[in-house]
Amino acid sequence: MQQVSAEPTSGLVHGCLICGFAFASRQQWGAHAQKAHGYRKAATQYATGRTCRACGSQYANKSHLRCHLLASARCLEFLEAAGSPAMAPAAEDGHTQAPVVRGWGTSHLRDARPATCNALYDALARLTDASDQQIYDVVAQYVAPLPLLRQTVCTWRNALPVGALREAAEDVLLVAPGGLEARRGRPPGGHRTPSGSSDPPFAA
Ligand SMILES: [Zn+2]
Ligand SMILES: [Zn+2]
Repeated sequence: MQQVSAEPTSGLVHGCLICGFAFASRQQWGAHAQKAHGYRKAATQYATGRTCRACGSQYANKSHLRCHLLASARCLEFLEAAGSPAMAPAAEDGHTQAPVVRGWGTSHLRDARPATCNALYDALARLTDASDQQIYDVVAQYVAPLPLLRQTVCTWRNALPVGALREAAEDVLLVAPGGLEARRGRPPGGHRTPSGSSDPPFAA
């Protein structure tokens, strides 16, 4: 069951930095990201064939595998780290009722880290000198749930040596109370928040 946040503003943690729209739920954000930016959830992206390449379990079909990946952060993270889902061999679907064939398990997988957006992390890791605005501009190019973007910036910041770049990263996380929060905007169908409005979190 999805709960609707009782707090109208703090509930707006789901947003699209590219469009400046904020959404009340992750689902609404997902629908927008899918439609406007071709975003595919990682679980969908990595559910190829019917065998989980992380733990070896075999499922009846792709959608059962996808459910497994949604439930197993360790498996999903392993697949993301392993890279291109296109490398997976195609497999015939089994019977829908086919029992799960357990694979070699997840004990060889490390605990799932706080999820990060790997592509964004790589882009941030290439920065050697950047202002908070420049960092924000990099972050805003990635289509991913805001909490994930924020976590990615946190992870990157934590790995930085003390210095100007780290301070700029801190600023990016601290500018708005919610950190990487979307600029207040109306969902698709409405109007974009005019620039220069009350509290764009990363305005210079
Ligand atoms: Zn968007
Ligand atoms: Zn698995």
